[in-house]
Amino acid sequence: MMRGLRGRCPHCGEGALYYRYLKVNPECPACRHPLDDYPADDGPAYFTILLVGHIVVAPILLFSFIHEWPLAVLLPSILIPLLLFTLLLLPRIKGAVMGALYANNIRRQDQAIHTADRAD
Ligand SMILES: [Zn+2]
Repeated sequence: MMRGLRGRCPHCGEGALYYRYLKVNPECPACRHPLDDYPADDGPAYFTILLVGHIVVAPILLFSFIHEWPLAVLLPSILIPLLLFTLLLLPRIKGAVMGALYANNIRRQDQAIHTADRAD
C-alpha cells in the first residue's frame, strides 16, 4: 500500500503506477507486472470523499465563527481546499487501494465471483 501511495508499482516499488494523472500503466515500466489487473473501481473515490469530508467539512461544523464569514470569503475558503485536497489525495489513495488489491491478490478476473448480479 505504501508503494501505491507513492505512485509506484506495488510489485517492485520502482516503476511509475500512472502514465497520466489517474491513468494506470497497463504494465509496470520497470518489472513488467500487469498493473491494469487490479480493479480499483470506485474505492479510491469513496475513501477520498471520506477523508476530504473530514478534513474540510469538520472544521466548518466545529467552528461556528466560520458561519459569520461573508459568502465571498466563505465559498473560496471551502471550495479551494476541497478541490486541492481531492486532486492531491485521489491518485495517492488510488495507489494505496491498488496496493491493497495487490497484497490480497484480488485481480480483475476475480470480479465475477464478487458481484451480486452473476448470471449463473
Ligand atoms: Zn514494477
